[in-house]
Amino acid sequence: MVPAADGRAEYDAVVVGSGPNGLAAAVTLAAAGRRVVVIEAADHIGGGTRTAELTLPGYHHDICSAVHPLAACSPLLSSLPLADYGLQWLFPELQLAHPFDDGPAAVVHRSLRLTAEQFGRRDGRYRRLLEPLVKHWDDTFAAVMRPMTQIPRHPVALARFGVRALPPASIFARLLDDERAAALFGGCAAHSFLPLSYPFTGSFGALLLSAAHAVGWPVAAGGSQAIADALAAHLVALGGEIRTGSRIRSLRDLPQHRVALFDTDAAQLAEIAAEALPTSYRKRLRGFKRGPGAWKIDYALDGPVPWKDDACARAGTVHLGGSFTDIATAESDVHAGRMPERPYVLVAQQSMIDPSRAPAGKHTLWVYAHVPSGYSGDATEAVERQLERFAPGLRDLVLARHVMSPTALEEYNPNYRGGDIAGGSVGGTQLFLRPTRSLHAYRTPNPTVWLCSASTPPGAGVHGMCGHLAARAVLGAQLS
Ligand SMILES: Cc1cc2nc3c(=O)[nH]c(=O)nc-3n(C[C@H](O)[C@H](O)[C@H](O)COP(=O)(O)OP(=O)(O)OC[C@H]3O[C@@H](n4cnc5c(N)ncnc54)[C@H](O)[C@@H]3O)c2cc1C
Repeated sequence: MVPAADGRAEYDAVVVGSGPNGLAAAVTLAAAGRRVVVIEAADHIGGGTRTAELTLPGYHHDICSAVHPLAACSPLLSSLPLADYGLQWLFPELQLAHPFDDGPAAVVHRSLRLTAEQFGRRDGRYRRLLEPLVKHWDDTFAAVMRPMTQIPRHPVALARFGVRALPPASIFARLLDDERAAALFGGCAAHSFLPLSYPFTGSFGALLLSAAHAVGWPVAAGGSQAIADALAAHLVALGGEIRTGSRIRSLRDLPQHRVALFDTDAAQLAEIAAEALPTSYRKRLRGFKRGPGAWKIDYALDGPVPWKDDACARAGTVHLGGSFTDIATAESDVHAGRMPERPYVLVAQQSMIDPSRAPAGKHTLWVYAHVPSGYSGDATEAVERQLERFAPGLRDLVLARHVMSPTALEEYNPNYRGGDIAGGSVGGTQLFLRPTRSLHAYRTPNPTVWLCSASTPPGAGVHGMCGHLAARAVLGAQLS
């Protein structure tokens, strides 16, 4: 960095990327009185929280994230006055539905008791698994939203969660001893993008289901863009600046600064900051394993989805994969680089909860499937077969579709390498030690270069905690 004529840098901090973590980092720094600018490659802010008319005029689609249990209970986001800037959560009647070929769909109510009751004699197993987490939800969530390498602030909550986090999802499927409960749990555990026999996959099932009972799985009124817009408005009110349409390829592209925080994936950081980082560290960044890819489809529909099971129409999110075994097979295939015949498909129906998303009587549908990293075939047919399996006649309602392959996702946002939407695999030690095996997640060997994206703890999802914790670490070190 070349210092300004008066010896002072133009900015205390430059944040590269305006995803939820970049904006959260900038807000945290600006709130501490630091001069901050966010520089974004795209023409619009928001990263994984953008909304656009992808198909037809009047249909507002969440391009990436759609369902926001993690944002709604994020210790950072819930502490900010985002409602003053228009952010409003809208909750579905049912948080989640998981349909089957035969028999009723498994559903998740806000009430743990009601949800457990659908499993008849096995209700106690579902309740005992989640009740302790739901009862102490704030402590549980605060405990897991921090790097596991730090001394825990909520050791009891962490231990309680740890018992339910360590085993693979396949163990919980057996313990639940009910096919529908096991599939429901498996669908949530599959958010890990890992084979469900892997350790810690149970943590995803336990965390997401507890969140459904403790807070719900809401969408943002008007679209996920509202999250980014509220964060950006708050940042500007705190004196921060935002520049869009400027992709950073080298540290030389940055204005004068004391510290740069990167809301990018690990591999991009290695490229952009090449001249400022030791070769050995860059090699470790490049060795950070990416996860499988996503195949995203947004639909403009002529009417509501014709679900075979009416319960699905009352749910904000629907998981399509059938039994636990079927989902486990699909996830193992994807992990091994094979396109499954019946991929695991996640569906959100925002317009059922938020009429502003589509013209009157019409609907949007948000769908993505797990596919192998960098998958170069066409998964649309396989995804639509899964949709038709549980909602026959859906294809007849399609007015327009917008498809994003793993390559298109990466072109849209260079962080989504090979279509990996989670900032890197959570397999092995990468769940805790991201992006390298260092105890200091956010800092690099260069004290002016920091990472603040989902490639750091606590990882993927819209919660802003990676950015917030990175900014706090910066404030404690370089900008103290
Ligand atoms: C299809 C899909 C569905 C998802 N569904 C959900 C969901 O329902 N709920 C949920 O909680 N999470 C979901 N996620 C994950 C969530 O969106 C991400 O985990 C989250 O957005 C990560 O935030 P981030 O700030 O780390 O990075 P990002 O959101 O990826 O933001 C990074 C920003 O940096 C910019 N950038 C990158 N490189 C550069 C550069 N060189 N120069 C300048 N700018 C740059 C990018 O353009 C982008 O705006 C989903 C993601 C996808 C793609």
